[in-house]
Amino acid sequence: MDFAFTAEEEAFRADLRAFLDAEVPDWWRGMFVDDERTMPFTRELCRMLAGRGWLTMAWPPEHGGAGASVWMQAIVREEMWAREEPRGPQYMNLNYIGPLVMRFGTPEQQARFLPPMAQGEVIWTQGFSEPDAGSDLASLITRAEDRGDHFIVNGQKIWTSYADAPADWCLLLTRTNRDAPKHHGISVLLVDMTTPGITVRPIDTMAGPHEFNEVFLDDVRVPRECLLGEQDHGWDVIVAGLTFERVGIARYARAGRVIEVLVEYANATGRGDDPAVRDRLADMRARYEAARLLNYRAVSMQAAGVVPTIEASVARMHNTQLEQQVGHVGLELLGPLGRLRSKDPLAPLEGEIHRYWTRNIPTTVAAGTLEIQKNIVAQRGLGLPRAP
Ligand SMILES: Cc1cc2nc3c(=O)[nH]c(=O)nc-3n(C[C@H](O)[C@H](O)[C@H](O)COP(=O)(O)OP(=O)(O)OC[C@H]3O[C@@H](n4cnc5c(N)ncnc54)[C@H](O)[C@@H]3O)c2cc1C
Repeated sequence: MDFAFTAEEEAFRADLRAFLDAEVPDWWRGMFVDDERTMPFTRELCRMLAGRGWLTMAWPPEHGGAGASVWMQAIVREEMWAREEPRGPQYMNLNYIGPLVMRFGTPEQQARFLPPMAQGEVIWTQGFSEPDAGSDLASLITRAEDRGDHFIVNGQKIWTSYADAPADWCLLLTRTNRDAPKHHGISVLLVDMTTPGITVRPIDTMAGPHEFNEVFLDDVRVPRECLLGEQDHGWDVIVAGLTFERVGIARYARAGRVIEVLVEYANATGRGDDPAVRDRLADMRARYEAARLLNYRAVSMQAAGVVPTIEASVARMHNTQLEQQVGHVGLELLGPLGRLRSKDPLAPLEGEIHRYWTRNIPTTVAAGTLEIQKNIVAQRGLGLPRAP
């Protein structure tokens, strides 16, 4: 299979790089860095990308896109992740929340929800996990009672990234039928986060600036026109959504940039003379290439109109583990000072590697844990029995 980019795609990549060189400030280190400039910056950058037609370029023109190939979108994703994703939370709109509205939404929902995403004006969050429903997501108990022209929602979500951004809308998973088997009776609601009865409470973690929240829903009224897909058939929506999400994050690109930083550091400090250091860095580079190609395989299936369920899980397993391995190798290379945080003047590389390592501890948990990805591959890819 030939994954070479065309001349047109390479020219676009060059334009995009030049734009990002000019617009991404030196202080940008990604989200969750305790810097109040981050969210206003990502919002502004998304508006600028939208203005150039680059934010949702692979979306169809009728939904505010440019009808570009998914490979063009893959280039955008790579360049963004190589710079710590300056689109902030809006990458979720483009990668899967928007595509889900296109696939499952009514014409009215598409007309209402897609243009603000394409214009870079709106932040969505994902209300799936609950205190007792993570890997076993279908155990969720947040309930939406059908009251005819609206639903009344009660329950609690947890680990909700960006809910306090503040998010404008939430893709919320709820139970609408308690008598049905657990994978049935689930519905997806598009919930305005300003609706009375919604409380967002940040969760602090040992990793530093928080990214997570709890979201409490008390008698939240959601109009029926905000039901996405069929009532009680939300599981189909979610399976498609998680697949898009897994392909949509170019973690290898971020790992590749960190490898470059480590190689520069090894050369500048003479550590590159050490055969063990060279061995580790070369190993990371090979793993980076494998992760990149596995992602390209999933993208090529998307380009052919296929939902790459197995391939997305395989790619994600490699991508998330790569990020953790590169973080470990980085800390080893930097030695004891590498543990210092960015604010410490003695921290090598301004604490960048420590932050990267910390940031990636939960990477193999988000969007379905490593073990769950392996279960998907074992069961659906290899035909092994379902996990007990
Ligand atoms: C960075 C990050 C961002 C997140 N953002 C969001 C968000 O925006 N919205 C949202 O809804 N959720 C979000 N989550 C939550 C995430 O989806 C859940 O943490 C994840 O699905 C795991 O669920 P859990 O934490 O309940 O762990 P559990 O499901 O309790 O799992 C605990 C451990 O048991 C293992 N395990 C569980 N079941 C099996 C099995 N059948 N076979 C083998 N091993 C198993 C798991 O792999 C894990 O190691 C985020 C999580 C992280 C880390």
